[in-house]
Amino acid sequence: MPIELVAIGDIPTEQFEGVISLANSTQNEFNFIQLQNNEVKAFKALAYKRASVKDLMDRMESTRSELGGYHPFIIALVDTKLDGERFSNLFGSNRAEKGIAVFTIDNVDDIIIPADKIASYMLYYFARFTLSFIVPQHKNHDEPKSCVFDRKIYKQDIVNSMKARAICDECRDKLLSGTVKVSSGQLDALDMLFELSGKLLDGSKTLSIFNNAPAPLDAVSELSVVKSRLDRNAHDFAKRGLWLYFLGIIGVWVTLAIFTYRFGWNIMEPWTYFIGGTLTIGSYVYFAVTQKELSPRTIYEQVIESKKRKNYKEFGLDIERFNQLSKAKSGSQKP
Ligand SMILES: [Zn+2]
Repeated sequence: MPIELVAIGDIPTEQFEGVISLANSTQNEFNFIQLQNNEVKAFKALAYKRASVKDLMDRMESTRSELGGYHPFIIALVDTKLDGERFSNLFGSNRAEKGIAVFTIDNVDDIIIPADKIASYMLYYFARFTLSFIVPQHKNHDEPKSCVFDRKIYKQDIVNSMKARAICDECRDKLLSGTVKVSSGQLDALDMLFELSGKLLDGSKTLSIFNNAPAPLDAVSELSVVKSRLDRNAHDFAKRGLWLYFLGIIGVWVTLAIFTYRFGWNIMEPWTYFIGGTLTIGSYVYFAVTQKELSPRTIYEQVIESKKRKNYKEFGLDIERFNQLSKAKSGSQKP
């Protein structure tokens, strides 16, 4: 049974892709496939910040029919704030009989589920909606039974059903005996996926991307060593500049003192007046032109910044790329 998945908006790619391959290697009943190329582009356009879940699923349906081809089951993962008819701030929703489902990481990521374990939540909903696709007629129950069919009025209740045997006995009975049934093989596969989602959540299982693919992370560490060396160089450079500035002022002062001693105050007085005045006027002009204060502190900071930029350029350090990488790194390494 092919289940197509698409991430729309700002979704952590590593966890999304990692959890798909984990889901596929765990069981053989369902084939989770990431939508490709043009198909992705069409869906990526639905990157709403906030949407009613009904409208979003309408759009997904029309996007699918415009695409053509065979896409019986599509689950979209979004970062949209989803509003329902009665409730706002939903996890997601589905039109199981049409093979369309959507869920969001908005207000989940780092609020209900730690950001580095969001894969557990993704896996949970992949399995949950897959189950709905098989038995669209099976609805949620209001009574909380730590079951995947709990209505989950309180969002944090979701973690109660992220575990092994996450389907309550009543639901299991119905699923196995209804007119449209879940096969025992499918139910077994889903049980494994829910169990796996619980393990990802409690940390007893981690995505392999966090174990054996540290290449980009190491690159970041290496780059940050280079970067801190270049930054230190910029600070030293600015400090030297500060001392030179200080020595310059002392020099002017000493020169004036010597000239005053040699030529007398009457000759030197206009000089001291104009030199002092020039400095004052100069700082006003500087402020008028640049809207920046001519103080040793701001100059110092500016010198550091421009020297840093020059150093990065000279040593070929792409600082924007570095910031992205280190952001990604700290994101994936949050405790
Ligand atoms: Zn149940």
